Amino acid sequence: YGSSASFSEPPNDKLLGGLLSAGFDEASCLSRYHSALYRKQSNHTPSPYLVSRLRRYEALHRRCGPNTELYQKAIEQLKSNRSTEPTECNYVVWVPSDGLGNRIITIVSAFLYAVLTDKVLLVHLSDDLRDLFCEPFPGTSWILPSDFPVKNLESLFLNAPWRFGDVLGKKLDATDGSFPSYLYLHLTHDQRFSDHMFFCEKAQPLLQRTPWLLLKSNQYFVPALFRTSHYEKELSLLFQNKSVVFHHLGRYLLHPANPVWGYITRYYDAYLGNAKEMVGLQIRIFEAAPISSDQMIAQILNCSIHERLLPEINLTEPAHPITQRTQPKAVLLTTLYSGYFEKLRNMYYQYATTTGEVIAVYQPSHEEQQHTEQQNHNKKALMEMYLLSCSDALITSGYSTFGYVAQALGGLRPWILLRPDKGSSACLRATSMEPCFHSPQGYQCIAERSGSKEAVGHVRECEDVPGGLKLV
Ligand code: GDP
Repeated sequence: YGSSASFSEPPNDKLLGGLLSAGFDEASCLSRYHSALYRKQSNHTPSPYLVSRLRRYEALHRRCGPNTELYQKAIEQLKSNRSTEPTECNYVVWVPSDGLGNRIITIVSAFLYAVLTDKVLLVHLSDDLRDLFCEPFPGTSWILPSDFPVKNLESLFLNAPWRFGDVLGKKLDATDGSFPSYLYLHLTHDQRFSDHMFFCEKAQPLLQRTPWLLLKSNQYFVPALFRTSHYEKELSLLFQNKSVVFHHLGRYLLHPANPVWGYITRYYDAYLGNAKEMVGLQIRIFEAAPISSDQMIAQILNCSIHERLLPEINLTEPAHPITQRTQPKAVLLTTLYSGYFEKLRNMYYQYATTTGEVIAVYQPSHEEQQHTEQQNHNKKALMEMYLLSCSDALITSGYSTFGYVAQALGGLRPWILLRPDKGSSACLRATSMEPCFHSPQGYQCIAERSGSKEAVGHVRECEDVPGGLKLV
């Protein structure tokens, strides 16, 4: 009997159901194997097929990654400007655009695209992104080497000689057998009509055939891949449940580097670890839809009291006498601004709640303004997204990719505070934890397939963004 006791211990699932490779030095990236100490266990197990495809991807990345002979060969071809025959190693180079949330959702989208097309994902890390994330693939690097021959990647859209949309129109039928060695893909919300063709069937051979794809996007374009029939079969094998794409791929790819992990764990242990429950509250105000702080507070309370996420305060009755110590319920508030914190905290200690619960309110930072160009600002943003993902329940602001990252990493279906220009003064429960693809409208090939049954089944309009698409 003695030995059976140890078998009944809960399994130590530090590899997250096989999602993570065991091939890393633990100390070099503590967050990779320690997330279970802070985040609730996921209800979702990755499919064996996804696990095997990740291991296959890792092998490909090791074979083709920076500092390999094959990488050098591909670089030579890039320099020659021509690709005359298919190459063994093909690459997607991710180029950052917009804030950290936008960047993260596009890294995940680009990675899924790389897996589907057997390409290798390299990320162009601007200085402000240095030391935020650990290397995700064992025995190699995903960082684009600094001597990469194409320069000024962030501003390529201005005059890229090989902009995909233009090449597709002009050169797809080239009969001299030569193709460009790279294409620039501009998949941001302001793409041109010709760039929309990325998801069209007829573009896939050219994309597949091009050794280097330089991709700039600020969109979670994963739902569109689900509407490209080219990838339908593979995607259905990878994900039986379509609403966990980011959840799995994000937890596979995005491990805060040790300095950020220090912020996360110290903050958690100092302020949040003692709570019986934690409600995450993310407030994001967009210039396009201003709202006063009083209105915002009213909307938050309206939502959280109605949905029983937070208790009401008792304005009439005298406070109950306190007869025993109470373990608090924590609210983790993240926002750029100060002001909300004081209002909520004061309200909850100056008045008793109708349920007798004690509410503790914490806000790790108030940066006042977005400063994506500053590394330490981004570290705090990542820390806060991660802490929000450790919540038991999450309230987010509609439209915000910052909130999307937190919800999907945490496996949480949030309550969304609708943007004041887009809805009522309350909140809606999200139908899935997946991020929203904000701007699919232009993509005619997605629109063409909208009518097809299988495509409609798991892609719906987002709750927070009219016309946006999300996986459910
Ligand atoms: P989105 O604009 O809401 O979709 O999210 P992004 O993450 O792409 O851009 C917003 C940026 O503003 C973040 O990356 C942070 O730099 C900053 N920011 C916005 N809200 C917060 C917050 O609650 N906490 C912190 N630390 N930074 C924030």
